[in-house]
Amino acid sequence: MATAEELKKQLGYEKKSFFETADDAEKEAALRYAEGYRDFIDCAKTERESVDWTVKAAEREGYRPYRWGDKLVAGGRYYLNNRGKSLYLFRVGTESPENGIRIIASHIDSPRLDLKPVPLYEESGMAFLKTHYYGGIRKYQWTAIPLALHGAVVLRNGETVRVRIGESEDDPVFYINDLLPHLAAEQDQKPLGKAISGESLNLLSGSAPVEKGTESDEIKLNLLRLLNERCGIKEDDFLSAELCAVPAFKARDVGLDRWLLAAYGHDDHVCAYPSLTALFAAGDGKRSLCCILADKEETGSNGNTGMQSRILADLIDEIAAATGTDANLIRANSECLSADVAAAYDPNFPEVYEKKNAALLSRGVAVCKYTGARGKSGTNDASAEFTAKIRSLLDREGVNWQLAELGKIDAGGGGTVAKFISVHNIDTIDIGVPVLSMHAPYEVISKADLYSAHRALSAFFRD
Ligand code: MN
Ligand code: MN
Repeated sequence: MATAEELKKQLGYEKKSFFETADDAEKEAALRYAEGYRDFIDCAKTERESVDWTVKAAEREGYRPYRWGDKLVAGGRYYLNNRGKSLYLFRVGTESPENGIRIIASHIDSPRLDLKPVPLYEESGMAFLKTHYYGGIRKYQWTAIPLALHGAVVLRNGETVRVRIGESEDDPVFYINDLLPHLAAEQDQKPLGKAISGESLNLLSGSAPVEKGTESDEIKLNLLRLLNERCGIKEDDFLSAELCAVPAFKARDVGLDRWLLAAYGHDDHVCAYPSLTALFAAGDGKRSLCCILADKEETGSNGNTGMQSRILADLIDEIAAATGTDANLIRANSECLSADVAAAYDPNFPEVYEKKNAALLSRGVAVCKYTGARGKSGTNDASAEFTAKIRSLLDREGVNWQLAELGKIDAGGGGTVAKFISVHNIDTIDIGVPVLSMHAPYEVISKADLYSAHRALSAFFRD
């Protein structure tokens, strides 16, 4: 008879640490891989910057711009730049696309503070820019930290002015005031979610008047003057602008062993980046591949740059038309990894996790069969069959991975783009890197899990 230890090995399931399974060469490769990601995350804080960065990288890999109606050929590499805010990179394989397209979808928008259309005002010796938060932020986390202003202003004549203030060391930053503890007695009694209101998230942006300050709004005018000098914009140009305040932090290693990485916007750049390296590593091949970098995930995937738009379906229609194949058949045989971050188990808040089914740090990329809330509502629940297919692929390739859900039942919930892809009759499952302090201005991931994500997504594109 087998011993207990043997039975455990033969029949049991246990999550394994990357450090237990990886050899020295793989550990070294993981640390090296994270350096490429560091460059991406520091350059690409908004969806527009992520698209710009990716287009440059894709062109180096032989990808060419595709415009609706362009001719597509087997073996071609293309990218559809959707309004500078979302991107569809695809390789048309040499075999019939009716065998299915392998799709990896992640998102490149992250929670932040957008400027209001009429943002600028002066009060008590200070100029401020009013913001309207974007995505699920915990408002108290955004006060008293350095913020940078990123985005685009489109002028009346259609010309676009790109803005990036506060990223270089000698650049000024923006700031949101918070209350001093000495006077916070009443605020301290409020629930955390109510202590800081959305309307108080105003960016401190200046304090010196244009002259002596004896006329009204001279500080505001001075700020307008400086903005005009630097970016060539006027106050009414804010009306047609997408400017956002994002943390001015650069990515930094956390911990003396340097295996953790803190940065703004890991959600979901930490999945977007490995999807790109997986695509580029795939080179040429028989199968058609598609890498989607979506916008608007953090606000519900709406609009024509979000995953609820028809663009993916339209693109598949175009591929079908170009290759003389059946679009419905392509969709039916396609498969998608919805690459989005998972919540890493945090021992400081054990009450919201169910540890057996939580994503554990350094235990590999997390596969989530379902997300959602209140009894699996609002989720793509991947079938057991598709889950088994992915499971066997990852095991075959020796990828360090774990199965996980978001947190304790009814503790909250969340969603991804998965359900907006599976609705097209495409088998879809969630997979992603576990993140600590998700949606905070500075989030933390493990470089081990990042590398596992790269290996998992590469296996999916190579298979
Ligand atoms: Mn996400
Ligand atoms: Mn998110």
